[in-house]
Amino acid sequence: MAPRTHDFDLAGLRLTAGEGRRLTLQVPIEPLVLGSEQYAAEPASVPVELSVSRMNGGGYALRIAFSAAVSGPCMRCLQPAAPVVDVEAREVDRPGGGDELDSPYVSDETLDLAGWVRDAFALAIPAKILCREDCAGLCPICAADLNIAGPDHHHEAPPDPRWAKLRELKLE
Ligand SMILES: [Zn+2]
Ligand SMILES: [Zn+2]
Repeated sequence: MAPRTHDFDLAGLRLTAGEGRRLTLQVPIEPLVLGSEQYAAEPASVPVELSVSRMNGGGYALRIAFSAAVSGPCMRCLQPAAPVVDVEAREVDRPGGGDELDSPYVSDETLDLAGWVRDAFALAIPAKILCREDCAGLCPICAADLNIAGPDHHHEAPPDPRWAKLRELKLE
């Protein structure tokens, strides 16, 4: 098992201005709660490609890229779901460059890689986590899994209120 990286020491790369480096690091992702359900990254420790460039005039341009499945109950049918999420994010940190160029994940040339990866993963997760894109969900009347029950599953329609009116008329 490769060592897991939480914080990454950018200064340790000893890059000169204009120089760049690309590395792959194992980064743990904590499970997250969406709605009231818990969803875990799969694998829990994800190989993340980190690109670091030392900018002319100081500071760093950073990029991360990784893929991980988000594993938990399907939001329609509650069966296990694990759609794969592709994540790419960029940050720039330039001392004295103002708020826009001050990455919240970098302080004193130390990169909070685990925090950045967790946030980027949370942002990339689809609003609806489904076991498959066309999941049929549950029957709104009896909660049967419609993926199993099939398209023929139906219930007798409730009596039409207009017929009730007719019946009343006949009784008069
Ligand atoms: Zn489903
Ligand atoms: Zn039903």
